[in-house]
Amino acid sequence: MPVKICLFFILSFCSFAVFGVQDTDSLQLICQKQSNKSVNFEDLQWMFRERVRVESQDQIPKHLDFFIQHTSGIKSQNYSFDTASIHKENLFAMSNMTDDPLLVWGNTLAQEIENFKVLKDSLAKVFNPSGYRLKFLQSERGLARQMDLFNRGRSMTALSLHNFNLAVDAGIYRRGRYLRRSNWYARLGSMAKDLGAFWGGDFVGFPDIGHIQAFSNGANLVQKFPGLAFEYIRFKEIYAQNYASTLARGQGDLVEDTRQLIVELNKIRVQKVCACQQAITIPKDLTAQWFEQFKGVSTGYVYVNEPAGWVYIKNGDSGYFYPLGVYLFAAKN
Ligand SMILES: [Zn+2]
Repeated sequence: MPVKICLFFILSFCSFAVFGVQDTDSLQLICQKQSNKSVNFEDLQWMFRERVRVESQDQIPKHLDFFIQHTSGIKSQNYSFDTASIHKENLFAMSNMTDDPLLVWGNTLAQEIENFKVLKDSLAKVFNPSGYRLKFLQSERGLARQMDLFNRGRSMTALSLHNFNLAVDAGIYRRGRYLRRSNWYARLGSMAKDLGAFWGGDFVGFPDIGHIQAFSNGANLVQKFPGLAFEYIRFKEIYAQNYASTLARGQGDLVEDTRQLIVELNKIRVQKVCACQQAITIPKDLTAQWFEQFKGVSTGYVYVNEPAGWVYIKNGDSGYFYPLGVYLFAAKN
C-alpha cells in the first residue's frame, strides 16, 4: 500500500512538473478576465448569445448592431433577419432572430433531414402487422413550443432533435384507436434501430416509446455539426443546473446525455473570447451622448472596446458592461 501511494505521488508530481499542467474539468468553463484580446464579429455574436436571455417571442431582436472599437477606429456590422439573404457568415446572428431553427440551419442539415425522411418512409413500409396502423404524429417543432413542453415537465430537454426535424413521434393505432401502450412500440423501436435510428424507449429514466430520432443525443449532433452549438448554447445554464441537481440526488445516470452535451459545448468555446460573468460599473469616460446610439427597442447591441477590455451588451431596455476575457477549463477539484 505505501508503495502504491508513493508511486501515485511520484507520478502525479512528475506529470505536474514535466507538463506544468493541472487536471482540468471539461464540465466547467470559466471566463478569465484578459484585456488586449483581439475580437471579431463572430465573438460578438457568441457574447450576445451567452449573455442575453431571450425568454419570450417579443424579446427576440429584429436587428443586431455590433461595434468593435480598436485603437485605430470603430468597425461595425449589422444584421437583419432576412431568410432570402442568409449568408454563411451571419448564420449565427440570424439564429437569434427566429423561433424556427430550421430557417437558419435547414441548409446545413438538409442531407440529414432528407435521410431521416427516407428512414421514416422505410419504417412505415416495414411496420405492417395486420390490424395495426402506424402514424407519424409530430416531427418539426418551434423553440417556444419546446420550451413550453420543457417547462411543464413534458420534455426532458430544452432543445430537442424535434427542433431540427430530426426526431418524430409515432403512434400505433388499432381499429382506428390510438394505443398509449402496446408491445408493438418496442417492435417499432427495434425496426427503427435496424435502420440506424435511435429509439426513445431506450432513454434512461424517461422512456418515450413513440419517439424516434436520427442521432443518439444532442452531443452527438453538435459533434457532427459544431455550428449548432450556437443554438444549444443559450440553454447551457439550464442544462448545467439540471445536471448538477440530478447528480446531487445521486442519479447521474439520468443525465449522462446532458453531461456529454455540456462537455461538447465547452470544447467548442474553450480558449475563445468571452464576456465575463460579473457585470461591471459604467466606464467613467462614457457620455450620455455615447448611449444615444443604443436606442432601438427591437435591436440587440454589442459594443466591444478592445483596448479598454470591456463589452457592452444590450437587448430591449437592459444593457450591461462586462470585462472581456478568455474561456478556460476550471481546475479539477
Ligand atoms: Zn418526441
